[in-house]
Amino acid sequence: MQGYKQQSNQTYTKRVDHIAGSHRPPQAMPEPAVCTVCGDVYADRRWTKPDAERQSTKHPHVRPPHGVICLACKRQADGIPSGYVYLSGAFLTAHFDEITRLLHNEAARAAEDNPLARIMETKQEPDAQLTVTTTTEHLAQRLGRALEKAYDGEVRYDFSHENKLARVYWQRDA
Ligand SMILES: [Zn+2]
Repeated sequence: MQGYKQQSNQTYTKRVDHIAGSHRPPQAMPEPAVCTVCGDVYADRRWTKPDAERQSTKHPHVRPPHGVICLACKRQADGIPSGYVYLSGAFLTAHFDEITRLLHNEAARAAEDNPLARIMETKQEPDAQLTVTTTTEHLAQRLGRALEKAYDGEVRYDFSHENKLARVYWQRDA
């Protein structure tokens, strides 16, 4: 009896290993899909805001959408940003509300092109610094350009191709 038990355990372990070890290529997202966290809709191989779905009545969705978690919500849940914007300088302190409003307005515009481009967190650091994290590396760069355009200042863009991480440093003192 004991021998039989042992054998069945081994079989079970093997099966688990087999599943864990099989590296299947990432599957295409099932369509239509809806993010169970933010409600954004994936159809026609792109994400849209739920209210934009009404415009795509040319593709009536007969089947109920698959519940998924979009990449932006996944990053938010895991706390792993794709972009960082570091703001500093006396000008930031003097125009703090105005500057944070500009960042959020720019993010809202970016979301019209890609709903998965979002600001994750705006965090006030000591020494009059602000760190903004984003779900896409592109949004961090876009925020940097928006700051540059609106307020000049000094901007530096860093991009790590290894982990696709964008870091933007913006500073203006006076
Ligand atoms: Zn989502």
